[in-house]
Amino acid sequence: MIRTMRPVIVAANWKMNTTPADAGELARTIASRTRVAGVERVICPPFVCLAAVRDALMDAREEVAVGAQDVHHEVAGAFTGDISAAMLDGLASWVIVGHSERRRDHAETDERVAGKLARAIEAGLRPILCIGEQLAVREAGSDAAAAVVVDQLWGAVMPNDADALIAAGLVIAYEPVWAIGTGKNARGADAAAMASAIRNGLRAIDWGDRAENVPVLYGGSVTAANIAEFLAEPSIDGALVGGASLKPDEMAGIVARAGVTGDARRSESPIA
Ligand code: PEP
Repeated sequence: MIRTMRPVIVAANWKMNTTPADAGELARTIASRTRVAGVERVICPPFVCLAAVRDALMDAREEVAVGAQDVHHEVAGAFTGDISAAMLDGLASWVIVGHSERRRDHAETDERVAGKLARAIEAGLRPILCIGEQLAVREAGSDAAAAVVVDQLWGAVMPNDADALIAAGLVIAYEPVWAIGTGKNARGADAAAMASAIRNGLRAIDWGDRAENVPVLYGGSVTAANIAEFLAEPSIDGALVGGASLKPDEMAGIVARAGVTGDARRSESPIA
């Protein structure tokens, strides 16, 4: 039986797609096609499109949050081309940190991801922390995969204050690297086992019951056709969607299915 009151969240990661000229229209279209009670929606466009997306959603009075795809681990300084948390003020209320494409292309270590989390907390940004294993690790078995993912989790979370992370609304996205942008999604049961390993990992560092309240999303080739497999798992609280998040039809299907889970959680909650 579903007993959790964790929110159901669908976050769109547009990656390096859209321009300031077309991002607002796409955001408005997706927002208008995903008005489903009980689902928190977030759109994370490229930095240069944040203002256009914010304005379009505000003009259309859509309750969709805007997120950045990254934030620098330092407060300010000589970091050409980078974006600080303070620069996101008024533009974004969420931020993705530790995405595997950033770890791969920008050599982002767990230590840096911890710094990004710290900057997000200070700035009042709600962080989505991405963690996930490479294919070779998954092929070594689910225990090996869980060990790597929990290591990443600890590397990012332990240098930060647990209560501050909870207050910031920390969300964790389990994103197996081999599933991102490949069209090869994980199995729902494997993602659910990893969500449990993640919460156990938090309990192991004395998060206690706070671990149960942390939303865990699945990310990796999510589509309208496969979202149900993940949301059927009580330990999974939604999805971080990449490629499919640029397609209004896909987003409509994904959020509609998320609404079914949101309804079920509300009706089965002891306080519903
Ligand atoms: C992502 O960018 O976080 C992601 C999961 O991408 P995709 O859905 O394209 O695999």
